[in-house]
Amino acid sequence: MKKALILEIKGNSLDDGPGIRSVVFFKGCPLSCEWCHNPESKRPQVEIAFDQNECVGCDTCLGICPEGALDRGNPFFIQRERCTLCFKCVEVCPSGALSRVGNPMEVEAIVKRVIKDKPFFDTSGGGVTLSGGEPVMAMDFCAELLSAFKAAGVQTLLETCGLFDFRAFETKLYPLLDLIYFDLKLMDPALHARHCGTANAVILENFRKLSACQSPGNTKILARTPLIPDITDTENNLRALAVFLKECRASKAQLLPYHPLWQEKNRKIGRHDPLGDSGPMKTFLDPGRMARCKAILQEEGITVV
Ligand code: SF4
Ligand code: SF4
Repeated sequence: MKKALILEIKGNSLDDGPGIRSVVFFKGCPLSCEWCHNPESKRPQVEIAFDQNECVGCDTCLGICPEGALDRGNPFFIQRERCTLCFKCVEVCPSGALSRVGNPMEVEAIVKRVIKDKPFFDTSGGGVTLSGGEPVMAMDFCAELLSAFKAAGVQTLLETCGLFDFRAFETKLYPLLDLIYFDLKLMDPALHARHCGTANAVILENFRKLSACQSPGNTKILARTPLIPDITDTENNLRALAVFLKECRASKAQLLPYHPLWQEKNRKIGRHDPLGDSGPMKTFLDPGRMARCKAILQEEGITVV
């Protein structure tokens, strides 16, 4: 039976598409955006996390670790080069400060969890959202999962970074999706490579090709841009985004406000903050900054939804 690595299944979400939704977060992503709001979803492997705020200092874990991998002198507590991911410490931790990140799951188990919420989907116009990480890295698994949701009458939405094989996507996933939220982060290829870890040519081409598949009045695809201070929220980037959207005959986009909560998540999985302590990265996006970004797109004829 096929399995995919799932970070979390979250019910009652109001932020990941229309209505009330259940969100299936996949683990593993082909990009490595410095500001990723779900950094624990980046690696396609199981990990261990430590939450300093939950630790009650009982030291039970220190006594049980067979590798001596837990060390109060380590800024992240866990010496990951020694840890074998046996999760003995997670089993004994009384407070949940130590936790396993990622679980392999079968299609049936995911559908069973999500389908319980169908009455909420039906009354609110909601459904299931596949998010991540990047779900499309598990293309065949997603095809099976989406088929099962369609058979059960559940509306389907995919959140994607856009880096995938278009032919396979068009054949296997596109017919099973009601909505596609497609992230367009940086239009400049060099900046995209620098901040997201890969070039953006395939992503832009995929958006262009998907846009060409849309029929008037039945647009499944929506471009989304996370507003990262001084990186994606610059006037140059937003004007270039608008030009590209118009070339693709896309008239709408969504802007996602930056928030700094990812930095704490990053620490829990033992990673240093790649953006350092720069001021705007430490605070939620200023509403004035959001208004300015919206105005730029609207001046260019793009409706911000
Ligand atoms: S997962 Fe196992 S090896 Fe790693 S810190 Fe916990 S007990 Fe030690
Ligand atoms: S077992 Fe849990 S609560 Fe106790 S010291 Fe270890 S991490 Fe902290």
